[in-house]
Amino acid sequence: MFSLYGIGLGGGIAIGRARMLAPQMRDVVRYRIAPARVDAEAVRLDAALGDVRQELEAVSEHLPEAAPPEARALIDVHLMILEDPMLVDGTRAMIFEDHWNADWALATQAHALAAQFEAFEDQYLRERSRDVRQVTDRVLKALAGSGGKEAGQVGEAMVFVAEDIAPADMLTLRNPLGFAIDLGGTTSHTAILARSMNVPAVVGLHCAHELVRDDDCIIIDGERGLLIVDPDEMVLAEYRHRQAAGELERQKLRRLIHVPARTLDGTEVELHANIELPEEAEPARQAGATGVGLYRTEFLFMNRRDLPTEDEQFEAYRDAVVAMDGLPVTIRSLDIGADKALSSIDPVVMPNPALGLRAIRFCLSRPDMFLAQLRAILRASAFGRVRLLLPMLTHGHEVEQTFRLVDRARAELRATGHDFDEAMPVGGMIEVPAAALSAAMLLRRLDFVSIGTNDLIQYTLAIDRADHAVSDLYDPFHPAILRLISGTIRAANKAGKPVSVCGEMAGDPYATRMLLGMGLVQFSMHPASLLRVKREVLLADAGKLRTRVARLLANDDPARVQALVARLARED
Ligand code: PEP
Ligand code: MG
Repeated sequence: MFSLYGIGLGGGIAIGRARMLAPQMRDVVRYRIAPARVDAEAVRLDAALGDVRQELEAVSEHLPEAAPPEARALIDVHLMILEDPMLVDGTRAMIFEDHWNADWALATQAHALAAQFEAFEDQYLRERSRDVRQVTDRVLKALAGSGGKEAGQVGEAMVFVAEDIAPADMLTLRNPLGFAIDLGGTTSHTAILARSMNVPAVVGLHCAHELVRDDDCIIIDGERGLLIVDPDEMVLAEYRHRQAAGELERQKLRRLIHVPARTLDGTEVELHANIELPEEAEPARQAGATGVGLYRTEFLFMNRRDLPTEDEQFEAYRDAVVAMDGLPVTIRSLDIGADKALSSIDPVVMPNPALGLRAIRFCLSRPDMFLAQLRAILRASAFGRVRLLLPMLTHGHEVEQTFRLVDRARAELRATGHDFDEAMPVGGMIEVPAAALSAAMLLRRLDFVSIGTNDLIQYTLAIDRADHAVSDLYDPFHPAILRLISGTIRAANKAGKPVSVCGEMAGDPYATRMLLGMGLVQFSMHPASLLRVKREVLLADAGKLRTRVARLLANDDPARVQALVARLARED
């Protein structure tokens, strides 16, 4: 028995036989083509590219019903890479001009393209180098005549172990029990897909593909980021017990879907969903969400070379609004920069992207682009209860400038005869300490606020949320953070305006009682967390929690506060 540690992507526990997926093709043959055979070599390349395109299109067209909504977009990224001029034209040039064989030419160009991505400071862009490698690997296999289909032929329910696995391959595996993957961080497309498939998965294991063999008995603990190979009887029994307990808990939780989220002392609580694609709205409603508290619109803008048109945006927003069937939908205007970059916008080298021209600052610097989004959101408001949410506010003048643009968007829509909700509420994210400390000022201008704890923690503690080197210092329960959150909630309650938390903290059941005690009654989270948080709400007495949380907030010693939060979370 031995164990490997990686990064857990959640999904619970998987116990099963290992199935190794073929390693990436690394040894690429290299030879010169006789001048007379150069045309035929280019035809060989085109045929391989065509085969892979067809393969990917087929996967995209026949996605399994259970495939997560992002799946098609992720495959589109791979289709786009297949047409990348540097990759395709560069490979052709190496065949025609230097007479290299197609395999070598492609591998060389792919290497250069991947290196360009790797040079980005931004983690999301860096991870795109893996997409380039995954696509190239498929084309190389097609060139070698083996096709890229071996993963698709696997049908038995097993735990898949691989150095890397492309999203398209992941989708062709029937009944995967879990994934153990050597490469990767949490923002790779493979990780995003694994998380949405809701199966136990661990990435970043480094050497699993070298140490595990087909048919080994393995355990994947997606919560702890652990892979156990050949477990002994005791460990196996323990994990079987945990797995059964997890399944029982999920069954019990499902009974809460239609139960209203009300505390023991009668406080009504709204549990909303965070979504990234319109297709996620319907499943969120079915999971019991009473609204969308955060629709991150970035996905519509990412992984493409052009900007989405106003109509395209309108259709996406309207689809989410219609799917929510009269429940509120909070659409956040484009929040790009730092960890979320756009390929359609020339990367501007910023000394410090997290502190640079991002989110609302970026939108205000591109009024035409911003206006198109505002018009699209306003048009969607004719179909239900839409609220506009502005990311990363710091100054009052950012709200005022946005209002001027919203007024202009309204006037333009009136002129073109489009319907919209004249009273669409406009709110702002509290993600910067300055905004939390000035919440009352912002609330005089805004209709509601939503606390983005992910960025609030990053900016308050000066911890890059994507940097593993300082991840141990990323402390959501630092007294400074708790004071900023409770101060914002207090300011909103005093102003009589709605306040929610939509960062990860809202979906952490460990924090639910504390947030209730701060007076929070609106939470927005990944739908997968909704029922666990609801169970905490149902068991809580908000009145009693208020007194206890007030005492906790008076303490400024981080270790003592941690202990108090833990005690608060554990008590029934
Ligand atoms: C946040 O910062 O908490 C938030 C919800 O926004 P995002 O995670 O999209 O930056
Ligand atoms: Mg944020």
